[in-house]
Amino acid sequence: MEKRKLVLTFSEDIVTQPITYRLVKDYDLSFNILRAEITPDMEGKILIEISGTRKNIEKGVQYLKGAGVSIQEAVKDIILDKDLCVSCGLCTSLCITQALTPDKKTRKLLFDKEKCILCGLCANSCPLDAIKLNI
Ligand code: SF4
Ligand code: SF4
Repeated sequence: MEKRKLVLTFSEDIVTQPITYRLVKDYDLSFNILRAEITPDMEGKILIEISGTRKNIEKGVQYLKGAGVSIQEAVKDIILDKDLCVSCGLCTSLCITQALTPDKKTRKLLFDKEKCILCGLCANSCPLDAIKLNI
């Protein structure tokens, strides 16, 4: 048995379709949704932990890709270095879950770890390397 943490991205045309239940029914996999940010008519992202045999996980991943879901391995953690960050806001535009947002009054960058789905997209956007990924 293997476990993998994956970030699934659903485009707006498939975000409301019941796609993931087939992982259980057709591929004998179990999964936990660890975090999710899904809004009807918009892109959605979920972080899942998927369990099953390596072969079945691969088949399930191929099924999801065929259904139009983008998949990436989740990172283990992200760390924001507040000493390096100058609150330019570049990273906030990439964070669909709004884990990274500017403070409404001070414009300083806020990081809400509870909302982070560990997709890792923000790290590459930072010109100062203030966001580190633990892969
Ligand atoms: S891109 Fe980097 S410097 Fe700019 S707000 Fe985000 S973490 Fe801070
Ligand atoms: S890894 Fe970065 S972009 Fe992804 S959800 Fe977390 S803070 Fe947002």
